[in-house]
Amino acid sequence: MFSLHLMRKFTADFVFPVSSPPIKNGVVVTDDEGKILEVASPPNPLSFGEGEMQYYPGIIVPGFVNAHCHLELSHLKGVIPEKKGLDEFIMGIESLRAASDEEIISAVEKADAEMYRNGIVAVSDISNTNHSFQTKAKSKIHYHTFIELLGFHPSRAEHAFEKGIQLEKELNRKNVSLTMHAPYSASISLLKKIKKYAEENHSVLTMHNQENADENLLFINKTGKILKRLEALGIDASFFEPTGKTSLLSVLPHLPAMNKIQLVHNVYTILAEIDVAINYNPNLYWCFCPNANLYIENRLPDIQMFYDKKLNITLGTDSLASNWQLSIPEEIKTIRENFPFIPFEEILKWSTLNGAQLLGISEKYGSIEKGKQPGLVHIMGIDEKNFRITGQITAVRLI
Ligand SMILES: [Zn+2]
Repeated sequence: MFSLHLMRKFTADFVFPVSSPPIKNGVVVTDDEGKILEVASPPNPLSFGEGEMQYYPGIIVPGFVNAHCHLELSHLKGVIPEKKGLDEFIMGIESLRAASDEEIISAVEKADAEMYRNGIVAVSDISNTNHSFQTKAKSKIHYHTFIELLGFHPSRAEHAFEKGIQLEKELNRKNVSLTMHAPYSASISLLKKIKKYAEENHSVLTMHNQENADENLLFINKTGKILKRLEALGIDASFFEPTGKTSLLSVLPHLPAMNKIQLVHNVYTILAEIDVAINYNPNLYWCFCPNANLYIENRLPDIQMFYDKKLNITLGTDSLASNWQLSIPEEIKTIRENFPFIPFEEILKWSTLNGAQLLGISEKYGSIEKGKQPGLVHIMGIDEKNFRITGQITAVRLI
């Protein structure tokens, strides 16, 4: 039940429900907990006539779903130099992970608060450790934790998997999946374990995919910087047989064929691979973190190509180790600047409803619809003729 006096009414120049077309001067009525009671378009009278209306210049959208983040890397903000390439980046992370627990946890708390302020209501978050677990448990944001398993050498598979099971227990096996980090960091033995477990538990998976060109080189002909890095780390790669195929096509047959799987980055993915991949698994999601790609490699994926294929696309911020901020509007802005033919409304869907569907939480999140509790965000800095972003974009959470 709701009490009428705590009911709230919001209006803006445009309301974007996402699940239906934008409404000029639309009105959203919520109860005191933010549950949507009504979405109205003028001149239709409101069923809930009482109460004062709050007007916001600009647009109102549902809360964002950040489809890819690593909260536990938040203490690395500004530490790793920009535009040096993924290899330098990973080496940088490895040498810098060694911070105190207090430093890491305090940065995690700050990042969670930053996302909340920026209108993010749900996050797909990667964990290698339990540093972020307490923050996530008490946060007002909904988190799904992807425990990331790494093990290039087949002899590591058992240990990596068991470590993941332990971390999963710490989360009471709720809103959590065990998943692979990337094709180049998982042996076939490890992928088999992950596949079996995911199929048994009907879990959603995610994997970093083709973030840089060396990932393909490793699989095609066993060359490139990843191989050098493995050697530098003292990891034996002598067992590894190149497949002659790209990294994505090499691991595809070892992934579940029906579970939802989100592939993250896709900077070097080409059209022919997409066709093979969606034929193998029709439930793939393609996640972009454009600002992280600019930060690390200064190169963007061909997002237009993915849009033209009408794929399930999601948006993420990646971590503060490879981004300047954790803000979905900043990611939207980068896409609009670089791919001006992709409509704003479409990118908004990637940032909200698609991420909610990936995580199986679209009953509550992702669109402004009666009965949902998606959060509301007020955005300014978008011109109202063609929804171009004119300069500075600001997003403030309303509820
Ligand atoms: Zn990532």
